[in-house]
Amino acid sequence: ARESSAMSRFWSPFVETLAPYTPGEQPRGRRFIKLNTNENPYGPSPAALEAMRAEIGDTMRLYPDPMATDLRAAIADAHDLDPGQVFVGNGSDEVLGHAFNAFFRDKGPVRFPDVTYSFYPTWCGLHGIPFATVALDEAFRWRADAFDGPCGGIVLANPNAPTGIAAPLSAVEAVLSAHPDTVVIVDEAYVDFGGESAVGLVPRYDNLLVVQTFSKSRSLAGLRVGFALGQPELIEALVRVKDSFNSYPLGRAALAGAQAAFEDRAWFEETCGRVIVDRDQIAETLQGLGFTVLPSCANFIFASHATVPAEEILSGLRERGILVRHFPQERTRNWLRVSIGTATECDALAEALSSVVATG
Ligand code: PMP
Repeated sequence: ARESSAMSRFWSPFVETLAPYTPGEQPRGRRFIKLNTNENPYGPSPAALEAMRAEIGDTMRLYPDPMATDLRAAIADAHDLDPGQVFVGNGSDEVLGHAFNAFFRDKGPVRFPDVTYSFYPTWCGLHGIPFATVALDEAFRWRADAFDGPCGGIVLANPNAPTGIAAPLSAVEAVLSAHPDTVVIVDEAYVDFGGESAVGLVPRYDNLLVVQTFSKSRSLAGLRVGFALGQPELIEALVRVKDSFNSYPLGRAALAGAQAAFEDRAWFEETCGRVIVDRDQIAETLQGLGFTVLPSCANFIFASHATVPAEEILSGLRERGILVRHFPQERTRNWLRVSIGTATECDALAEALSSVVATG
């Protein structure tokens, strides 16, 4: 966790109200098996690394293309869209942040599930955007009519985080058509591990913004590249917000690396496929150890043990050199989110868990 300092007399009352988003631990020094921040264990496409190396040279003194023309064209092509329907940013967090400001400010409350990506309430807090959470059912699922009623915006992470549960496209479509005057953001950070993408709905719904990232399925979390797909009217709003903040969202290395990664389909498919196989295997192993595991379409699983409290498992794993993620809020207190590592890391996890659970 970040270091927190005491309040300062220089702080505005606003700063005192902020409860910053706490990212998962990035340990320095001791080597851990890191299954706590949903990184992809296989690393980016070698072609992406090569493209970045080639980019580092004399041209670095020059500003990058502010419109990210080539990268946007590559993404648009792959989805049968126009470049004017693609927006890129410095990680999907930045893209989401711009989208919240572009579509949700000075409107009614934004609705999103009560168990979802904590960036959403954090961003709303930072920018004074009111929000109202929608309670997920016992199985951590939402019903399309749960979003009914007037609101200023809707955000659906699909697959959801930290649960890994994917909603069917028909349910996403039901929300889109029930709220034709409201922008619905579908955050597809994990969609490549088994979810159904809403990208194909972009031409039919002018209120749909799909957000994806290079951090997970393309293993470029360190590069910070994300993108949004939507009709030009929505994309134009994002460009306006971005230009008011920073006209150069991506540097040269990021543009080159992301484009090469995007074009290396074979690497993408093979590495995602491996993660999916290992995920289903480790889910089964955990069930055998007495865990309830939610059905996951992401590169992590969300699991709760029948008798051993999650916090005990968290510290037992840490002692054995393995980091996983715990969300201490009421609803998720007894659950752990475990990212899918390499097969060797999954084996180490299974072994550590069986000893933690046996002694717990
Ligand atoms: N959406 C969801 C649901 C996530 O879990 C994450 C990763 N923390 C992101 C978006 C942001 O990812 P990035 O900024 O690395 O693209």
